[in-house]
Amino acid sequence: MAELILKSGNDRSVLRRHPWIFAGSVDRLEGRARPGDTVLVQDSRGKPLARAAWSPESQIRARVWSFDPEQSIDHAFIKRAVATSVARRAAHPWLAGQEGVRLIHGESDGLPGVIADRYGAVVVVQLTSAGADKWRDAIVAGLVQATGCSAVYERSDSDVRKLEGLGPVTGLVYGEMPESLTIVENGVRMEVDVAGGHKTGFYLDQRENRQLTGRLAAGRDVLNCFCYTGGFSLQALAGGAKSVISIDSSGPALATAARNMALNPQLDASRAEWREDDVFQALRNLKAEGRKFDLIILDPPKFAPSAAHAERAARAYKDINLLGLRLLNPGGILMTYSCSGGIGLEMFQKIVASAASDVGIDARILHRLSAAPDHPVGLAVPEGEYLKGLACQV
Ligand code: SAH
Repeated sequence: MAELILKSGNDRSVLRRHPWIFAGSVDRLEGRARPGDTVLVQDSRGKPLARAAWSPESQIRARVWSFDPEQSIDHAFIKRAVATSVARRAAHPWLAGQEGVRLIHGESDGLPGVIADRYGAVVVVQLTSAGADKWRDAIVAGLVQATGCSAVYERSDSDVRKLEGLGPVTGLVYGEMPESLTIVENGVRMEVDVAGGHKTGFYLDQRENRQLTGRLAAGRDVLNCFCYTGGFSLQALAGGAKSVISIDSSGPALATAARNMALNPQLDASRAEWREDDVFQALRNLKAEGRKFDLIILDPPKFAPSAAHAERAARAYKDINLLGLRLLNPGGILMTYSCSGGIGLEMFQKIVASAASDVGIDARILHRLSAAPDHPVGLAVPEGEYLKGLACQV
């Protein structure tokens, strides 16, 4: 096994159990390792600290599999880690009855670069690091064994793979896919397009927040911006919303939303209006039309993938929040989110506050929102906390 020697004084992060070893803290690699191979991490005096996956092309030069330097990293180790993560979901009372659940959430579940989402009998896996890519067979075998699923579909087409020198890999890796795939989320049936949808097909991270929307929606006029396949919209209808306008720029997402509407005959489709439009423009148009709402959801895509994009992203966040706040009736609620890793909760709150003060609106935070509990944040890995949200009442 090759040895990765850290520069003097650069062992603190590993000692704090942070799994990322950045290029700048690596002194040298002794011996030879191919991308994804396991290396023994040592401090500058040669003391073994951890075993990690080598990724020569990435700025994150290695990702720790185990902080026990004696632990051998093999097929059995990976399968055990997969089984442990799956068992944690099964043991969580909120998640126990759900058909759509994130089974493995990367670093926070001790499996850097591994995402696995279960939709009924289908598991979708996304591998984003050289180490995860190397152990594909063990990860898939572990998932099949731990879940008894009938199919595993791979969606390793995330852009971050490029940073690891990996190309896209997609397709069926185990079993047989059903002709169509739906899940029931809090009483609402939703189609999941694992091959063509965003991420692994669905935004599981917003499950609890969609449920909260349903609980706040009764009797209200609702505006759902960046609606994707209508998750928030349908929960709002289920919660008794008076009307729901949903906006997204993606035709295919809206086509799925229409099918989702049809999959739920218990909901009153005549209260729902779907608009294919750019949200920035649509919010201005609604203002010009003199429309007002009691509940507005803003769940935009990642404007700032990293801290380097934070400034431009901050302007975009401020813009939509400002436009949204102006469309609220007195007492109305803005549910606003950012899934940008580069923008922390504190900064996001400042952005929303400055949007409100710019338009002279008083507002207060009713709920601070985050990702669902199947997207845990490792205490040692605060970077895992990408999704943050605020429910503000004006
Ligand atoms: N709230 C959704 C997920 C939203 S994902 C859910 O719970 O499932 C972000 C969505 O924003 C995507 O569907 C994407 O098509 C859409 N989008 C991105 N930029 C947009 C823009 N400028 N105007 C309208 N929609 C946009």
